[in-house]
Amino acid sequence: MIYCNVTSLDEKIHAFAKFGDTGKGGITRFSLSPEALAARAEFQKRMEAIGAIVTTDDMANMYATLPGTEALPAVVSGSHLDSVRQGGNYDGVLGVLSAMEALETIATQHVPHRHPLTAMVWTNEEGARYEPAMMSSGVICNKFSKEKMLASVAKDQPGYTFGEALTASGFVGMQANRLSPDNACALIELHIEQGPVLEAEGYDIGVVDGVCGMINYEFTFVGQADHAGTTPMKYRKDALYAAVKAIQYLHDELDRLDPALVYTTGKISAHPNIHTIIPDEVKFTLDARHYDSAVIQQVLSIIRAMPCEWVGCTVSYEEAWSRKSVAYDERLVDIVAQSAKALGYTNLRIHSGPGHDAQYAADMLPTSMIFVPSVEGHSHCELEYTPTEACAKGVNVLIETLLTIDKTL
Ligand SMILES: [Zn+2]
Repeated sequence: MIYCNVTSLDEKIHAFAKFGDTGKGGITRFSLSPEALAARAEFQKRMEAIGAIVTTDDMANMYATLPGTEALPAVVSGSHLDSVRQGGNYDGVLGVLSAMEALETIATQHVPHRHPLTAMVWTNEEGARYEPAMMSSGVICNKFSKEKMLASVAKDQPGYTFGEALTASGFVGMQANRLSPDNACALIELHIEQGPVLEAEGYDIGVVDGVCGMINYEFTFVGQADHAGTTPMKYRKDALYAAVKAIQYLHDELDRLDPALVYTTGKISAHPNIHTIIPDEVKFTLDARHYDSAVIQQVLSIIRAMPCEWVGCTVSYEEAWSRKSVAYDERLVDIVAQSAKALGYTNLRIHSGPGHDAQYAADMLPTSMIFVPSVEGHSHCELEYTPTEACAKGVNVLIETLLTIDKTL
């Protein structure tokens, strides 16, 4: 077994935490911001120091490659360096640092490998400043039009586009350098779980076999705006009260479905939102996720069977967006599971609830993911934390996985 150096991994985690440090335990590192560019430069410097060749593609995705002994496509691992506002020091960046640590371990211990091994950085996974999320993996995997993405405008700087930021970054390379089935044979993304299951159930490693499908619906309740002081209760058409009743109804119905279903009303608005006026229009969203499309169909049936009138108010709904479940490559999923087992780490097969760049890549080449536990499940916040020893177990599984792929694919 090849083990990474825990001290070296810990140093990397602390070194990269400086780029965009909020001073409160987390980072704000929007894609292509000065902080993100500094993190990229550090990635490049450190990878060149171990003998890797660094290239970028036309979306500024970065690839640091250790040549193999044979002319074969690369075995690739990586994630993203950008964060949400006041995010943590693990989401995304840990996948990049793990790939760096894996390659550094293999290089310094002179472990022979036939395939080139690549550590990669995806551009703009979070979509925190330029929407959408998973932008560059979406472009190179043909989910999004590049032109539309280049025209995406910064949320905090009207008129300034992603395309302008990309050109100014100095990290734009050739389209021919894009990750593709021609130059890569497998992709493994290590990531924090971003949920509480692995820690709560005592597992070292999550063997990710796919990404949950999801739907997001927006409901609109229409009532009648009237004076809050003069309208007796029995004459009211209160759209907010109707929405509250409907949310309760949806919870009661959805709780009868598979316990692995998760659903959320995370956004609600009331009009006119004035304390002396009965609300006449209320909107809320329902986000529902499950790996099995049959369960998502059951959610849709519940939505469709919902009464169309609530306390005198009408309801309409529409799909805001949806995505299908993604199944990762069975062979790679098994290699991850066997690697964890060989290292003596407890592991659980798990689906990812959040989206990741790897799920777009899965359409293009064999792909899988490795999860490490998130303490108390916190993520997308400054409390996000995974002890370095727990991260190191993930890196060891990654190393074993990369070397097994190198021997068998
Ligand atoms: Zn992430």
